[in-house]
Amino acid sequence: MKNDCLFCAIAAGEIPSSKVYEDELCYAFFDIAPQAPVHFLVIPKEHIGSVAEVNGDNSPVVAHIFEVIAKVARELGLESYRVVSNVGEQAGQSVHHLHFHVLSGRDMTWPPG
Ligand code: AMP
Repeated sequence: MKNDCLFCAIAAGEIPSSKVYEDELCYAFFDIAPQAPVHFLVIPKEHIGSVAEVNGDNSPVVAHIFEVIAKVARELGLESYRVVSNVGEQAGQSVHHLHFHVLSGRDMTWPPG
């Protein structure tokens, strides 16, 4: 757990969140400022700063997160959804703990803005 990391504190239960799913490796919760009718985030419990910090040692948790995304989406009855991870300021990353946005429930444009 990294000091002063919002998502480490959420994963540890120190800051309240609206939980969607949890296991020993990852935590999923609804976004506080949803950008679609369904918008949740999936994060590893271990601190990884972003996709840019994924490597051979920590990539198993990323594979696991994608299994969790598929499972949770099935359970929520989502037939179509978008998975996004912003890396760095220009891409819009505001929280520096790896997270995957899962957005669903409305038409989406491509390319994203
Ligand atoms: P990003 O801007 O890609 O780093 O995504 C960070 C996301 O975290 C944004 O969509 C925020 O709305 C969301 N967020 C920030 N604080 C919280 C919180 N306390 N609970 C749930 N979602 C949050």
